[in-house]
Amino acid sequence: MAKSDSSAEKPAEARSHFIREMIEAGVRDEKHGGRVVTRFPPEPNGYLHIGHASSINLNFGMAAAFPGGICNLRFDDTNPDAEDVEYVDGIQEDIRWLGFDWGDRCYFASDYFQQLFDFAILLIEKGLAFVDSSSLKEIRKLRGNFYEPGTNSPYRERSIEENLDLFRRMRAGKLEDGAQVLRAKIDMQSPDLNLRDPILYRIRRVHHHRTGDEWPIYPMYDFAHGLSDAIEGVTHSLCSLEFEDHRPLYDWILRACEIESPPEQTEFARLNLNYTVLSKRKLLQLVDKGHVSGWDDPRMPTLRGIRRRGYPPQAILQFCDEVGITKRDSVVDVGLLEHFVRDALNFGAPRAMGVLRPLKVVIENFPEDQVEELDAPFHPNDPSFGSRKLPLSRVVYVERDDFMEEPVKKWFRLAPGREVRLRYACLITCVDVIQDPNSGEVVELRCTWDPESLGGAPADGRKVRGTLHWVSADHSVPAEVRLYNRLFKDENPSAGDGDFLDSLNPDSLEVLSGCRVEPSLANAQSGDCFQLERMGYFCVDPDSERSGTLVLNRTVGLRDTWAKEAKQAAPGTGAAC
Ligand code: ATP
Ligand code: MG
Repeated sequence: MAKSDSSAEKPAEARSHFIREMIEAGVRDEKHGGRVVTRFPPEPNGYLHIGHASSINLNFGMAAAFPGGICNLRFDDTNPDAEDVEYVDGIQEDIRWLGFDWGDRCYFASDYFQQLFDFAILLIEKGLAFVDSSSLKEIRKLRGNFYEPGTNSPYRERSIEENLDLFRRMRAGKLEDGAQVLRAKIDMQSPDLNLRDPILYRIRRVHHHRTGDEWPIYPMYDFAHGLSDAIEGVTHSLCSLEFEDHRPLYDWILRACEIESPPEQTEFARLNLNYTVLSKRKLLQLVDKGHVSGWDDPRMPTLRGIRRRGYPPQAILQFCDEVGITKRDSVVDVGLLEHFVRDALNFGAPRAMGVLRPLKVVIENFPEDQVEELDAPFHPNDPSFGSRKLPLSRVVYVERDDFMEEPVKKWFRLAPGREVRLRYACLITCVDVIQDPNSGEVVELRCTWDPESLGGAPADGRKVRGTLHWVSADHSVPAEVRLYNRLFKDENPSAGDGDFLDSLNPDSLEVLSGCRVEPSLANAQSGDCFQLERMGYFCVDPDSERSGTLVLNRTVGLRDTWAKEAKQAAPGTGAAC
């Protein structure tokens, strides 16, 4: 095969957005000493999805956009119940695949457990944290709500000594899960619920995938996150909008812990795509309940799913740049993502021919033992792809849909008595149709060819409008082809009160066996991408190695409805729906 992966270039200048402008202004004013340090902080409780790609592109992209900027990879592994080392490895693989590198700065919040513990001690010593022996239920009850203020815990006024002692006993593993928690002492009257003495530490006597059984207590996200940012010298802590309400707490903790150059939290809207779900919890359900074959099922919006489907990473980054970063939630049309995939593959994928639903064609006047070796370019516009040989012989396969026994108006493909061109080969005319005597199904076409049209135009210059893809029966390679449709029937599967699983599309996967592809694909390797002319873009699935038969995934069809619709829409309104 010629070039196997696509190489459309990323645009040199990515679009600006409010975060880029904010960082630019800060650098100009020497804020944070003019430094730009970001981090991407995944929780290793699932694989990354396309929404994470937007955050990765933002964090690594902003670091790369400013001289000396760096982006750390930090696993936010403070919740051992759902976390797994399998995800730690998978996440790194996925970020690398997108083309980003964190150098030697792969960190784990769990590396900071001792420092975080020391900060908690500091807060207790300053009278800014206390151990609460109330049950979680009681704590919740006393918290109040949006309309009513909270009530102080009966344990709020414990002495510093008692708090230190109790917290150390928590740490020593002497207490049951849920027996007590460490809380910040802020303000139970605060209109901001997050500031009503939030929990900082809880007892969880569970095994951690990195620290083992060393810690029976684990810090809460709000406590661990800002301090981990501070420990790493992060300047810009970019996170999604749901943390906006937590920012006062983020700042309070940094102030209370006397952090000298505190990081700055800025929130942006999550990326949402229609016809899918972007939540690890829901994606895990799809996997666990067997609705998909795994996290890397090509219908999944996970990075490993779309990689297996054949999406080139640069198409994903271009998509993220195009969607941009905003402060307002919106849902992006998955058609826009497909548009960039198609665009990248149009430049980068070689062409081949393959017949998905074969119909046998016998060319009656083609000698039995004759084989014509035809030359065909791998790419119509890029000679650097080279060319391949296409063998033509007496029996070929064409696409079943390219034949119509009683042709409709404007049908230019095969029909009884009709002449068509076999792409790169010759003209053939259908002279007879063989049907199964029982079912009446067309099982074979008998045709004749015009030997003078071989590799070019017919001698008399007659016009033939239909051109079909085809393969030689004897020389072609068998393949299984998997066609994908949207995983969900509804634009927003999570809308309403119903279960998002009710919205699953039962026709999201169609498996075609008995397909035939041209011989140049005989040695195609897992991950190779190409266009099967007229049928779409495909890539070789890793199942090929397991099964010994070529298994192809259709990455995306050829028709770009998004580009057409976007042209008609006013500029800037095409992307979101
Ligand atoms: P999920 O809802 O899928 O479980 P999460 O926020 O819990 O997502 P994390 O592992 O904590 O997953 O995410 C790591 C980073 O990616 C966070 O900074 C988070 O804000 C960001 N992120 C997650 N989902 C999206 C999204 N859809 N769009 C943009 N950023 C996202
Ligand atoms: Mg999270």
